[in-house]
Amino acid sequence: MAAYDIIDHRYDAIVVGAGGAGLRATVGLVEAGLKTACITKVFPTRSHTVAAQGGIGASLGNMAEDNWEWHMYDTVKGADWLGDQDAIEYMCREAVPAVYELEHYGMPFSRTKDGKIYQRPFGGHMRNFGEAPVERACAAADRTGHALLHTLYQQSLKHKAEFFVEYFAIDLIMDQSGACRGVLAWCLDDGTIHRFQAHMTVLATGGYGRAYFSCTSAHTCTGDGNGMAARAGVPLQDHEFVQFHPTGIYGAGCLITEGARGEGGYLTNAEGERFMERYAPTAKDLASRDVVSRSMTVEIREGRGVGPDKDHIHLHLEHLGPEILHSRLPGITETARVFSGIDATRDPIPVLPTVHYNMGGIPTNHMGEALRPTAESPDAVIPGLMAIGECASASVHGANRLGTNSLLDLVVFGRAAAIRTAALVKPGTTHRPLARDSADFALARFDRMRNAQGSRPTAEIRLEMQRTMQNDCAVFRTKQVLAEGCRRLDQIAATLADIRVSDRSLIWNSDLVESLELENLMACAKATIYSAEARHESRGAHAHEDFPKRDDQNWMKHSLAWFDDKGRVRLTYRPVHAYTLSKDVKYIEPKARVY
Ligand SMILES: Cc1cc2nc3c(=O)[nH]c(=O)nc-3n(C[C@H](O)[C@H](O)[C@H](O)COP(=O)(O)OP(=O)(O)OC[C@H]3O[C@@H](n4cnc5c(N)ncnc54)[C@H](O)[C@@H]3O)c2cc1C
Repeated sequence: MAAYDIIDHRYDAIVVGAGGAGLRATVGLVEAGLKTACITKVFPTRSHTVAAQGGIGASLGNMAEDNWEWHMYDTVKGADWLGDQDAIEYMCREAVPAVYELEHYGMPFSRTKDGKIYQRPFGGHMRNFGEAPVERACAAADRTGHALLHTLYQQSLKHKAEFFVEYFAIDLIMDQSGACRGVLAWCLDDGTIHRFQAHMTVLATGGYGRAYFSCTSAHTCTGDGNGMAARAGVPLQDHEFVQFHPTGIYGAGCLITEGARGEGGYLTNAEGERFMERYAPTAKDLASRDVVSRSMTVEIREGRGVGPDKDHIHLHLEHLGPEILHSRLPGITETARVFSGIDATRDPIPVLPTVHYNMGGIPTNHMGEALRPTAESPDAVIPGLMAIGECASASVHGANRLGTNSLLDLVVFGRAAAIRTAALVKPGTTHRPLARDSADFALARFDRMRNAQGSRPTAEIRLEMQRTMQNDCAVFRTKQVLAEGCRRLDQIAATLADIRVSDRSLIWNSDLVESLELENLMACAKATIYSAEARHESRGAHAHEDFPKRDDQNWMKHSLAWFDDKGRVRLTYRPVHAYTLSKDVKYIEPKARVY
């Protein structure tokens, strides 16, 4: 192995990731007086959170009566009873103060006539335990994530957090006892290697949409935190639950927010029929995302898709009028023009279900602490490690996330992680020395990849993985296709040993970055398809045609995918929390999920 000089840093806490989750945690940690570093591979305001469009969910009741218990009910139901109800209770209750906190931080929300935060309806958010859609998504036009991320970044600057921008985290530093002691990172700009030691490491690295061929997420969404956790002996939870958003632009994959349907947009098939009325008589176009994506897929399969190949669906906004489109949905009007050449004020937008969100991730409790479950102790905490945001599974989204609940998850659990860390770590606590070989595991992997001289370019392996996931682990799944997919993916993963990295430089070596990311994506993809293959039921986003019913008797449990040092997957399970946090809040019993 080449010799690398390591630059050492010591912090009370470090956060890996500067999206909404990472920044909210950073602000809270610094506020608590903890010396905090935030490490990020892209400039903070380029994190995928910036692309969020539709809104952040909270039962403010600004437009119509609402309360957090209805929000909790909708989230439990949306999650198809795979969510942990203690965490869901925590999130929905904290939603209201969390949104007011953002308002006080200066977030520029859209406003009602009387100056309150504007709210719009969103899929699966209903009044009075499922009666009719309710306006719960707090929005800044269709650029809510942009407004949120910039607001949090400015707050974190005010609080003097220390940023390490364009530093790529390679792997966690774990000690003999199984505790996390920090992270090893590579500075892309000058090629130096940095060891960050901390009493608490918070992973906030976002999702892994790029494991699929067509997705709405940024090229940086490569599941790095999940990959690091998997290599450190932490299982990945519920990865089989991948959300397909009903309205990705046909061909391009870019998102048209559900807020478009919230403002009155609707879907039609080749016969011009508003088919969602058949599948979801009450919520119609505002049913939960898995329900709408499946309905669209059935329409296309049965020959009622639009276009010359009858392979997509129309989203109509033209009846809303230019005024609403320009004031409430300016971003997506532009997206439609650029990516499908459509003037949304006149013509319908061609759309198709597209990979959008990962419900699964690193298992945590409702305070953000990462778990390494055992049979005796399914909620065992890993000392020194937390996970928040899309890389985590708290689990508030269970088998299917409701729109607007992710931005909410970021700020609620970002804040919770800071509060919990402040309770565990006193500012300035002395650091125990690390073992002499603490960086070896990470460095060996880095060096091996940097010098990989096989025959297969990274992009080629990645494309095969993405196509396999897109074909074999999509909206509808079968036993046969999943089994073949597992086999195929194993073969593709095996070729990682034969990868070719052509650039050996340590400075701005994108080939090396993408290769390290590919290893992370591969772990995510494997956990996804193996967990999907094993789950013999249909629940939320996991629609298994050979097992079309939900099976609470056998499958109301979280999947855990563990990796051995050869990258092989082993599955175990842990029970869903069938209890709430407070005595006065009743557990919501499972029932059939209809919209
Ligand atoms: C197009 C789109 C629209 C959406 N709209 C909505 C919406 O309206 N409402 C809603 O609730 N949700 C929405 N979502 C979902 C939501 O935006 C995401 O789930 C959420 O923003 C993820 O935030 P995060 O903080 O977990 O991660 P991200 O915002 O993805 O940030 C990840 C951070 O981790 C850093 N990072 C990753 N790997 C490394 C590494 N190896 N080393 C160092 N740093 C690393 C990155 O630099 C980045 O700063 C949308 C998603 C998309 C894709």
